[in-house]
Amino acid sequence: MIPAAMGGSQPADYNAGMLRTIPLTSRPSWQEQLADLLTDPLELLALVQLTPAEAGYSMQALQDFPLRVTRAYAGRMQKGNPRDPLLLQVLPLAAELHTLPGYVDDPLAENSANPVPGLLHKYQGRVLLITTQNCAIHCRYCFRRHFPYADNRPSRAGWEQSLDYILGDPSIEEVILSGGDPLAISNSHLDYLLQRLASVPHLKRIRLHTRLPLLLPDRIDQTLLTLLGELPQQVVMVIHANHAQEFDAAVDAACRKLRECGVHMLNQSVLLGGINDNAGALCELSLRLFAAGVLPYYLHMLDKVNGAAHFEVPDTQALALIGTMQTRLPGYLVPKLARELPHERHKLLL
Ligand SMILES: *Cc1c(COP(=O)(O)O)cnc(C)c1O
Ligand code: SF4
Repeated sequence: MIPAAMGGSQPADYNAGMLRTIPLTSRPSWQEQLADLLTDPLELLALVQLTPAEAGYSMQALQDFPLRVTRAYAGRMQKGNPRDPLLLQVLPLAAELHTLPGYVDDPLAENSANPVPGLLHKYQGRVLLITTQNCAIHCRYCFRRHFPYADNRPSRAGWEQSLDYILGDPSIEEVILSGGDPLAISNSHLDYLLQRLASVPHLKRIRLHTRLPLLLPDRIDQTLLTLLGELPQQVVMVIHANHAQEFDAAVDAACRKLRECGVHMLNQSVLLGGINDNAGALCELSLRLFAAGVLPYYLHMLDKVNGAAHFEVPDTQALALIGTMQTRLPGYLVPKLARELPHERHKLLL
């Protein structure tokens, strides 16, 4: 989208648009932005110019899983639209209170693949490290919304246990930093962790699963770029955008900088009823990703976590959507439709 201040008739300048409209001196640091998240639903609703009733807001849903989102992301929501695809990802809704059979608190049984606190070893050659329980957003459909993060709290001592585990298993070629969001931790903590991983001889790839390039593009600062650019391993970043509207010029710039320092950029989305469950939105997302230098990777079927049933899209509809995408897009812009099942050795492709 073209920022209004640049005039609708000009082509979008993905390199400079956002920065040009806001004087540099008034921009809070990313640390300040991360400490100043939107957590009050009434403040968010005032920002998007909706009443709680118009939006379907529920205080009880809020108590189940608090609201959390960056102001940068909220700024991309349309005003006056209760069906806005970004708003629907974060606003606690009355619809979450309907429990349905088949929906549980720990749909992936992750607690059973947890050899040491904070580390999941489900798939061959890859381990997933819960670097922090923090996210800069609370996605209402998140399968970790009931995860016992308190037991998986990162600390350097906790990381040591995970590092020992990784060091002791030469079959592990790839470490996935996940969370929570691994970029929600400070550069100095990240530096420590990455340096330790960099010295593991059998490790070939380091992957980060993060939404922060979209939520807080300023997080992609020079220190982080240097840290990632200097790693001896190949670095993969999987961002998580569900809708083209999540992109703006600042997000594009963040993705471009990551690519320039050698990071392979991929995206995973969740297929979400009411948000991206139509071929137009999915095709537009793929094209928008590619414009930012990011390839679509997975389109996940929803995990059946309590509180998310209203986002469900049936398998038949999901397959039809992928079919339509294949007729409209080059093959490399069609994501893999996948479902994660507990106790499987890989994600199941539909
Ligand atoms: C998704 C996932 C991975 C990575 O799977 P890929 O198919 O390589 O993207 C690894 N471990 C866990 C626990 C996962 O959920
Ligand atoms: S960013 Fe990922 S881990 Fe964090 S709430 Fe959203 S889906 Fe869950």
